[in-house]
Amino acid sequence: MSVRPLAITDDELSTCVGCGLCLPHCPTFRVTNEEALSPRGRIATIRSIQWDGLKIDDQVSEILNTCVQCRGCEPACPSGVPYGRLIEAAKNNMAAHRQTTPWWQRFGLRLLRHHRLLLIGTPLLALAQRVRLIPKRAGLSRLPIRLGPPIVASSKTPDVWLYTGCVMDAWQRSTHRSVAALISKVGCRYGVPSKAGSCCGALHSHAGLSDEAKVLAQAVMTSMPGSAPIIVDSAGCGAALKDYGHLLNTPQAHEFSQRVCDVHEWLEPHIATIMQSHLPVMNKPSIIVQDPCHLRHVQKSHLAVRSILAPVANLIELDDDGMCCGAGGAYSLVEPELAALIRDRKVHNILAKFTDDSNIVASANPGCLMHLQSAGLIVKHPVDILAEALGLVPTTNRPPTKGSTK
Ligand code: SF4
Ligand code: SF4
Repeated sequence: MSVRPLAITDDELSTCVGCGLCLPHCPTFRVTNEEALSPRGRIATIRSIQWDGLKIDDQVSEILNTCVQCRGCEPACPSGVPYGRLIEAAKNNMAAHRQTTPWWQRFGLRLLRHHRLLLIGTPLLALAQRVRLIPKRAGLSRLPIRLGPPIVASSKTPDVWLYTGCVMDAWQRSTHRSVAALISKVGCRYGVPSKAGSCCGALHSHAGLSDEAKVLAQAVMTSMPGSAPIIVDSAGCGAALKDYGHLLNTPQAHEFSQRVCDVHEWLEPHIATIMQSHLPVMNKPSIIVQDPCHLRHVQKSHLAVRSILAPVANLIELDDDGMCCGAGGAYSLVEPELAALIRDRKVHNILAKFTDDSNIVASANPGCLMHLQSAGLIVKHPVDILAEALGLVPTTNRPPTKGSTK
C-alpha cells in the first residue's frame, strides 16, 4: 500500500548527501552491517516512498520499524539532516495504515492513559515476573510489588512542577522521591500534575500514533498551569514535553515547552549551594555514566548529569560516543532480537570500564535503566545517586533481574 504523501518537505528529504558519516553511530547498522538498516539506507527508503510511490511491503516495514529512533545519527551528520522528523513522518503514515505498531502494543499504550489501572496492574505484573510468567526477552528489570505512597505536592502555589508521568510513577517512584527531596533541599516548593496529565505521549509518538500523542499532550499542559518550570526526571518524557511546540504547533504549546527542564539541567546551577551545606563526600563510588539517547542526542542535556554527580562520585566515561543501548521506548518489546544485540554491545563497553565489582552505572531514563538492569548490571538514576549520597533518601541498590543475558 502506498502512503504518499508523507508530512515532510522535499528540502528536508534532499539534505542527505549520502556521505555515510552517520553509519558508525547507528546501532542497527553496527549490529547488522546492512546498508538498508542504516540512516542513509532508511532515508533512501523514505525518499522512494515519497518521490517514487514505493509501496510499503513487509521489507520496507522492517527497514523502518527496526529504527530505534535513538537519533544518534543526527549529531554525526555534517549536513544537518533532520532524521527524527523524517522517521516520525514515515511512522505516522505507517501507523495510519496499520503497517507499524501491532494491536497488542496499541492496546498497551491505550492503558497508559488510565494511571489507576497501571498502578493496580504493576504489583500483579511484578508477581507474574517473580513466578517467571514474563519472558526474560521482554527486557524488564525487577518490578516493584509495593509502590509506596504517591508523590504529593509540597505546596498549592509551587515554585516548580515535578512531572511524575505514567510508567515512571508506577515502576520507579523512588526516583521521584529523590527529586522531591532535592527540590526541597534547594528551598523550592513543588507541585505535581493532576491525574489527567499522567502520560506524556512519548511512547505514542514513538509508535507513530501522533493523534493520541496530541490528546495526551493537551491533557499534560492543562495539568500543570501557570508559568513555573516543569522538572522531568525521565529523559524520554522530557524530550516529549519539550517537543509539544512542534507536535501541537500552538502558541500555548510552544510556551509550555519552554518551561520544561530536565532535572539535571535544573539542578546544575544549584549543586554548589547544595554541596556547601553538606560535608564533602569521602570514598566516592565509581560511577559509569550512560547517556540516554533522548538526553544526549535530543535534549543535549547530558553534561549536566556530570555536573551534579561529580561532587559525590568518581565518574567514568564510556568510549562509544553515546551509542544507543537498544531500549528505545517499546523497542525492546517489539524488536527483542535486535534490542538484545544492541544491548550486548553496550554491556560489553560498560564491562570494559569496570574497575572492581562495585561499579555502578548511572542512567537517566527509565527504559534504558531497566533494559540494562535486565542484563544483570546495577543501574541507578543519577538523582538517586545524588540524593542517597547526601542522605536525603535511604540507599538502595535496585537488584538486577536474575538470570542476566550475559
Ligand atoms: S535513529 Fe538511531 S537507529 Fe535510527 S537510523 Fe538513526 S542512528 Fe540508526
Ligand atoms: S544522514 Fe547525514 S551523515 Fe548520514 S549519509 Fe546523509 S548526509 Fe551523510
